[in-house]
Amino acid sequence: MMEKQVNGNSLVLLTGDITEQHTDAIVNAANGSLLGGGGVDGAIHRAAGKRLLEECKEIRTQKLKGDYLSTGEAVLTKGYDLPAEYVIHTVGPIWKKGKDGQEKLLANCYRNSLDIAARSGLSSISFPSISTGVYGYPVEEAATVAIRTLVSCLNRREVGEVRVVLFSEKDYQIYEKALKEETLPP
Ligand code: ADP
Repeated sequence: MMEKQVNGNSLVLLTGDITEQHTDAIVNAANGSLLGGGGVDGAIHRAAGKRLLEECKEIRTQKLKGDYLSTGEAVLTKGYDLPAEYVIHTVGPIWKKGKDGQEKLLANCYRNSLDIAARSGLSSISFPSISTGVYGYPVEEAATVAIRTLVSCLNRREVGEVRVVLFSEKDYQIYEKALKEETLPP
């Protein structure tokens, strides 16, 4: 585990299962359909129970008028059977060798999720490593974007606790390195 204070907020890196985090919200690396999938998305839907899928379908038909949730955007649902009260669903970019503004889209996932959490009055949130599973974003590059964006958002606002929950020790090491490099004194 590594913890870093950023402007009075705590940024924590740990290995573990995001569905077991007792933070106000956990973030889902969803796909635009919001209808569930594999990886962390599947794990979150299994742990939250079928009411989560019902609420996601409602968001698709009502708020999104049948459209897909765009890459980089985020929406909030309840957490149902999860220990977390809320789930923030965001859609990471699919890796295309860094083309099409992928860095910016990945940064938007982190920034928009934090915005929703702050607007909803939440003070703790857990993120997975967005886009680095099926979506193929290289972990080193994704970690740099994730850490840089989280530190910059936390420097500008009061959130509370932000966790990044890594599913493997290897991913953890990569995020830890990114955080150490990000916080090196100038
Ligand atoms: P994406 O489609 O955005 O790439 P994935 O779910 O395929 O999303 O993978 C994102 C990351 O989430 C991967 O590093 C994967 O190992 C990790 N992951 C899968 N299940 C869990 C879980 N239960 N808790 C935390 N991270 C998980």
